[in-house]
Amino acid sequence: MKFYEYIDKQLASLDGRDQMRKLTNIDFTADGAAKLGGREMMNLSSNDYLGLATDQQLKKEFFDRIASDPCSSSYSLAAASSRLLTGNHAEYEQLEDLLSQMYGGRAALVFNSGYHANVGMLPALGGKGDLVLSDKLNHASIIDGATLAGAKFKRYRHLDCEHLETMLAKNHGKYRHIFIITESVFSMDGDVADLRRLVELKQKYDAVLIVDEAHGFGLFGETGCGMCQQQGVVDDIDIIVSTFGKAACSMGSVAIMSPLMKDYLVNKMRSLIFTTALPPLVVSWTRFMLEKIIDMNDRRQHLAAIADRLRDGLKLKQLETMGSSHIVPLVVGENTAALTLADKMREAGILVFAIRPPTVPFGTARLRFSLNAGLTEADIDKILDNV
Ligand code: PMP
Repeated sequence: MKFYEYIDKQLASLDGRDQMRKLTNIDFTADGAAKLGGREMMNLSSNDYLGLATDQQLKKEFFDRIASDPCSSSYSLAAASSRLLTGNHAEYEQLEDLLSQMYGGRAALVFNSGYHANVGMLPALGGKGDLVLSDKLNHASIIDGATLAGAKFKRYRHLDCEHLETMLAKNHGKYRHIFIITESVFSMDGDVADLRRLVELKQKYDAVLIVDEAHGFGLFGETGCGMCQQQGVVDDIDIIVSTFGKAACSMGSVAIMSPLMKDYLVNKMRSLIFTTALPPLVVSWTRFMLEKIIDMNDRRQHLAAIADRLRDGLKLKQLETMGSSHIVPLVVGENTAALTLADKMREAGILVFAIRPPTVPFGTARLRFSLNAGLTEADIDKILDNV
């Protein structure tokens, strides 16, 4: 059938450009270390930035709670309906109360994932007649949301606030609303947005500012709220999206905003309304983790220190790196070279994947060292010995 021939050709074309993606079978040891092909590896490809996924003590503490009251509905494994029907277990309210406290009393609304938040946010807030100004390197989920919204979509150069201001000045007054949307810490380059400057621009041009903290949540700021807390702008950003699948070692996401905006999204956001809620057990685990993470400044500081050590070491070796966070890229250039280096590192027991276009721009294939606070200085030196 012609359709299947078409699919086959598309895959062959990806393969020909070294862009074919495959699902890798990964196993884990009892204490959480990654195992690939039967071999234990240093895992530099997970977003478990605080190194908590392998913390057996935390897991045991939570499981003991369940064991003491296994039939509690808080530990139910199914929500069985949307939050708007009967899926809104009391655990949701407790988690949202905690998040609201963490963010200085702003309203909190929890979603099933960061993807759900981003894909549903812009279509709920805007549409035809609106303009979305998006950092060029924003995550696919943000782009998908903007596309679904049907608003005019323009990208400003990565982190370039001057370029953004030029676009704001040119378009101000020509659209119903203008949205500025950015990540705080960028997942492929490991660099950080100047949120204070973005707040100034949003105020000057009366725009709506949305910040995705997927890679900052749990890791920056006094209580781990993210870059917006570190840069002192929690109250000035219209909507902050933080996700729980990375540093918080759970599943789900939250939007932090005004109570008015929360009411609006509950009524308008299709990716909240038309999906089954998270199991109460997951919501309960997220709250358990967040209560711990608030006090994890030691881990946050250690993570920053080992990231500096790796970046400095790469630069000493005259290798190309960038950014300033716990995500440390090593830019190799061509796809084949990146794949070869990733294979070499795996042979040395270091699990890192080559990131290739279209995830990153053509000619900038790279290894992305995704560090976690469980790594030691000796681990960093081992990475440096093998690049
Ligand atoms: N935003 C950003 C910046 C991300 O990197 C990701 C996931 N990689 C998401 C949103 C989606 O979050 P989730 O995995 O919770 O769907």
